[in-house]
Amino acid sequence: MNSWRDNVRKVEPYTPGEQPKEEGVIKLNTNENPYPPSDKIKEAMSEIKNLRKYPDPAATKLVEAIASYHGFDKEEVFVGVGSDDVLAVAFMTFFNGKKPIFFPDITYSFYPVWAELFGIPYEKKAVNDAFEIQKEDYYAENGGVVFPNPNAPTGAFLSLEVVEDIIQHNQDVVVIVDEAYIDFGGDTAKELTRKYDNVLVVQTYSKSRSLAGLRIGYAIGNKELIKAMNDVKYSYNSYTMNEPSIVLGTAVLEDEEYFQETRNKIIDTREWFQIEMRKIGFSFADSKANFIFATHESVPAKEIFEAAKKAKIYVRYFDQPRINNYLRITIGTRDEMETLLDFLKEFTATK
Ligand SMILES: *Cc1c(COP(=O)(O)O)cnc(C)c1O
Repeated sequence: MNSWRDNVRKVEPYTPGEQPKEEGVIKLNTNENPYPPSDKIKEAMSEIKNLRKYPDPAATKLVEAIASYHGFDKEEVFVGVGSDDVLAVAFMTFFNGKKPIFFPDITYSFYPVWAELFGIPYEKKAVNDAFEIQKEDYYAENGGVVFPNPNAPTGAFLSLEVVEDIIQHNQDVVVIVDEAYIDFGGDTAKELTRKYDNVLVVQTYSKSRSLAGLRIGYAIGNKELIKAMNDVKYSYNSYTMNEPSIVLGTAVLEDEEYFQETRNKIIDTREWFQIEMRKIGFSFADSKANFIFATHESVPAKEIFEAAKKAKIYVRYFDQPRINNYLRITIGTRDEMETLLDFLKEFTATK
C-alpha cells in the first residue's frame, strides 16, 4: 500500500532568489537588468501571429539571428528556454562518462542540482581565498568541466588565457563556459569554439538584454556538439521555444545601440559603486559582472541583509560555508544604488 512513494524521484531542488510581492521594493537580489528591454520588443509584438499553430521546432529565425549577430553559422548555435535549459541539455548530452565532472566549490548552485538529477558524478574544486578558480585543479582526469566566467556569485573573472589553458588540459571531455555575465566587461571565449571542437560557450538574454521574463539562452559551439544537443532536445521536447520568444528574441538583436547604452550605464554605475562601497568598509574583488560580492569589515552580512530587507532593499545572502559573511548585490540604476548606499552608510555607522 502506498508503495508508489518508493518510486517517486527525490531531489533537492535549486532555490531561486526571492521575487517579492510587495510594492516599492528596490530589487537587487537576482541580477536582473534595471532597464527595460529595447523598444523593438513593442514594435515586434504585432508580428506575433499564428499562436494557433505550433512554433518552428528549430526556432530557425532566432537561431539565424543569434548566429549572424555573433558571426557563426546557424549549425553552430543551440537555443533554449533560458540558459538554464541550455545548460541542462548540455549536462544531459555531454556528461555521460563514469569519471566525475569538475566545477568550482563556490559557483552557480544549479550545477550540483543538475548533476544529482541526471546521476552525473561530480567533484567541487575549491577556489582560493580571493575566490579565484585555480586552473591546475582542472588538470586531473575528469568527465567534463563547467564554470561560469565571470563566476557567480563572486564576480571573479578569468582571463581568456586561463580559460584556454583549462581547455587545453581537457581535450578529451567537453568544457562548458557559462557566460551569463560576459557582456558586463569580460572577454568572451566564443572564438575558442572555432579552435577547439570540445568547447561550448553559453550566454543568455536574461541579464544584459533585460529579458529574464522571456526565457532565452543559447550555446555556441562546434556543429557536432550542437547537433548532439539538438538530438537530445528532440528526444525530450520539440517545442521548447515559443512563438513570442522566437519573434521578440530576434527583434531585440537589431537594437545594438540600446544594448550598448544600457550595458555601459551598468558598468559605469558599478565602477562608481565599488569606489563608494570601499569607502564605507566593504571589501570585494573587482567585478566584471552586474553585481558585486562584498563583505563588511565589522558588520555581519546576515544582519545587513535582514535590515536592508526591512528597508525594502533586497540583496542576496547565501547561508553557505565560506560565503556566509558576503552579500551579492546586483547593480541597479544609479538612483537605486544611491538609496542602498545611504542605507548602508547609516546602518554600518550605527553598529
Ligand atoms: C542567471 C544565470 C544563469 C541562467 O540564466 P537564464 O535566465 O536561465 O538564462 C546561468 N548561469 C549563471 C551563472 C547565472 O547567473
